[in-house]
Amino acid sequence: SDSHFPVPVAPSQFDYSSHYPQISNDSKKIEFADIGCGFGGLLISLSTLFPATLMIGMELRDKVTEYVKERILALRTGNPGQYQNISVVRTNSMKYIPNYFEKGQLKKMFFLFPDPHFKEKNHRRRVISPYLLDEYAYALAVGGIIYTITDVEELGEWMKSCLERHPLFEPLTVQELEDDPVVKLLSTATEEGQKVARNGGQTYQAVYRRRTGPIE
Ligand code: SAM
Repeated sequence: SDSHFPVPVAPSQFDYSSHYPQISNDSKKIEFADIGCGFGGLLISLSTLFPATLMIGMELRDKVTEYVKERILALRTGNPGQYQNISVVRTNSMKYIPNYFEKGQLKKMFFLFPDPHFKEKNHRRRVISPYLLDEYAYALAVGGIIYTITDVEELGEWMKSCLERHPLFEPLTVQELEDDPVVKLLSTATEEGQKVARNGGQTYQAVYRRRTGPIE
């Protein structure tokens, strides 16, 4: 159950100094969140691409979270001054996003190869849903981007249609997708993406921007 891990009561209570000991004193906030980060490959790629941006991975599995923690610590030790901007928390992102991020705080959210939950009755457990998109729209700044990718065609269609129907999201244009260096990482940077690529699998991505609009 969730009672095994601590959750900040509010975003202001998040312990920046333990996650980002070298940069926590300049009152920067987390701007990228990798939801269901798995083994952390995306965070590690993004860390050097955006060295001035704080990022967090959110992962439900305890052992996987511990692995990512160790991996980041080892990178910090082996590369002094680098990888200080990434960290990971064990949490259930479907419940606790509002505990971690204030309104409009995030610039990017990632949902890479999420669990498919094939059965109709399990669709409510999918990390992209009309209800959860309200929460993500709240946490994202206007202009912020939500990146999704999967190798499961049905899930890809589901994520895209949820985003397409939501009034606070609009798709990036083909040109914008081409110009965004992060898009190229979606299928290559994570462990799951690499596995799919090795097996020659197809992927389905949906990348949408948080547009202007009220959330009450
Ligand atoms: N994004 C990674 C990648 O592309 O390699 C991992 C993909 S893996 C198929 C899905 C991950 O989401 C798993 O590590 C799982 O533990 C995590 N996950 C599932 N539900 C979650 C939740 N509610 N909150 C946080 N993480 C979750």
